[in-house]
Amino acid sequence: MFELIKLPYKSLAPVISDQTLSFHYGKHLQAYVDNLNKLLPGSGLDGKSLEDIVVLASEASGGLMGSIFNNAGQVLNHNLYFTQFCHFDQAKRAEKSALIAQIVKQWGSLDAFKEEFEAKGVGLFGSGWVWLAAKEDGELVILQCPGADNPICHFERSPKGEVEKSLRPLLTFDVWEHAYYLDYQNRRAAHLQALWPLVNWKVIEERYTK
Ligand code: MN
Repeated sequence: MFELIKLPYKSLAPVISDQTLSFHYGKHLQAYVDNLNKLLPGSGLDGKSLEDIVVLASEASGGLMGSIFNNAGQVLNHNLYFTQFCHFDQAKRAEKSALIAQIVKQWGSLDAFKEEFEAKGVGLFGSGWVWLAAKEDGELVILQCPGADNPICHFERSPKGEVEKSLRPLLTFDVWEHAYYLDYQNRRAAHLQALWPLVNWKVIEERYTK
C-alpha cells in the first residue's frame, strides 16, 4: 500500500495558492494514490517499489498495466514535485554546487537554463511535465514528458534484458492545468516563471549527487 507523502511546508502562497495546493495535493494526488492501491493487488507488481512499478508498467500498453502506469507515474511525479519546493521565505538559493556548475557548463548560466526549461514547459502540448534529468555520466537534459511520463521510463534494455542508460529525475514543473488554473488560468508561462523562488536547490543537488 502506498501512502500520501507528507509535505515539507504548510503553504507556498502566494506563488501557489493554498486552494490550489489543497486540491492538487489533497484531491488529485490522493486520488492517484488510492487508484494505484486498488489496481495493484493481483497485477504481479504488488509489493514492488514505486520506481520499479513505473518502469515495468511503462513497457506495457493499455489495459490494466496502462492504468497502473498512469496512476503510479503520477504518484511518483507528484512526490518528486511536491518535495522539491520550500516556502520562498526559506528558499534555499542556488549555491555553488556540482549541479549548478554542470548547468552553467551546458547552458552558460542559470538564467539561460531557466529560460529553456520554461520554454519547454510552455511548448509541451496538453498535459504533462517538464523535467531536468541526469544521464549516468552526469550530463543534464531537459525533457518534455506527456501525461504521466517520467525520465526513469526513458531507458534502454541491454541484450540480457537489464535496464541501462536510464535517466534520473531531478527537477520538474507540472504543466497539467490542475497545477495552475485556479491561480493563473491559461497563463502557463507566468505560472512557470513564478515557481523558481520556491525551488529548494539543496534537494535538487541531493538528487543529482546521490
Ligand atoms: Mn499535478
